[in-house]
Amino acid sequence: MYPPKFDYAAPTTLDDALALLAEHGEEAKILAGGQSLIPMLKLRFAGPDMLIDINRVEGLDTLEETADHLIIGGMCRHNIIGHHSIIEQKWPVFAEAGKLIADPLVRNMGTIAGSLVHADPQADWGSVLLAVDAEIVVKKKGGERSINIDDFLHGIFETAIEPDEILTEIRVPKPKGKSGGAYLKMERKVGDFATAGVAVFVEMDGDTIKQAGLGLTAMGTRNLKAKEAEDALKGEKPSPELYAKAADLAAKICNPKDDTRGSAEYKLSVVRTYVQRGLERAVNFAQKA
Ligand SMILES: Cc1cc2nc3c(=O)[nH]c(=O)nc-3n(C[C@H](O)[C@H](O)[C@H](O)COP(=O)(O)OP(=O)(O)OC[C@H]3O[C@@H](n4cnc5c(N)ncnc54)[C@H](O)[C@@H]3O)c2cc1C
Repeated sequence: MYPPKFDYAAPTTLDDALALLAEHGEEAKILAGGQSLIPMLKLRFAGPDMLIDINRVEGLDTLEETADHLIIGGMCRHNIIGHHSIIEQKWPVFAEAGKLIADPLVRNMGTIAGSLVHADPQADWGSVLLAVDAEIVVKKKGGERSINIDDFLHGIFETAIEPDEILTEIRVPKPKGKSGGAYLKMERKVGDFATAGVAVFVEMDGDTIKQAGLGLTAMGTRNLKAKEAEDALKGEKPSPELYAKAADLAAKICNPKDDTRGSAEYKLSVVRTYVQRGLERAVNFAQKA
């Protein structure tokens, strides 16, 4: 099916893009990688009067570290994040997730902001950002605000972003001590969405876990943050028993459904296993860092 008719603008500055969005409001949609929006248009689930293509806006695809943060521009493509040298060296949870999203075509076009705003609970970045406790920066004409990822994700295809806002960057607090991470994803075949996914981040203080982050994919109506499991890990020495306890606590907040990807029971057992494996991998990475 063809998409309904729409006007098209391709601004080259963020100010111009924000001005267009302010003018057209709910009648407009931002076009980033198009990997979710174009199918939505073709299926006529979306029918905006105007598409504002931000692919030519400069400065939205930087990835850098400052003294306190890892900054990821909203227009960073999945593939760029997964293979970036800063990410490969220090942020394994991003490196692993970036390489597991969809297939090479989608990874080359799709962006982290597009994925977060689309807010499919089976998408991967939400869990990664929950694990690292990221802040989402959104801008509108004449204003900017920052929203913690846990408050940003509301439900299936629902987030805190307003129609006149553009997601410009993601800010991830940099750990002071040694850190590690992992992203484990069960998929029926390469390129599929997750049957179950687990994002893990740990910061160590010597041989003790100082901070822990756990994000879960495809386990409810949005990506989930396993707070009780995170708290149980903090201040403890890593051990298989501790990992098993965290896995049980994480599984407690999950509400997967039986579907063609597997039964709810099977998905829960994958989550339990992946939390334990992910923690082991993340702690090993941190100890070697
Ligand atoms: C075959 C296939 C397999 C896939 N598999 C996976 C998978 O395994 N894991 C996974 O996580 N994802 C998967 N995806 C989704 C993919 O990651 C998309 O790239 C992503 O969901 C959307 O990013 P995009 O840049 O293409 O956004 P677009 O499609 O351009 O936009 C999506 C939505 O976000 C809005 N938007 C985009 N950018 C901004 C911004 N900066 N500010 C405000 N609003 C914005 C748009 O208006 C639109 O509503 C898959 C997609 C396909 C087609």
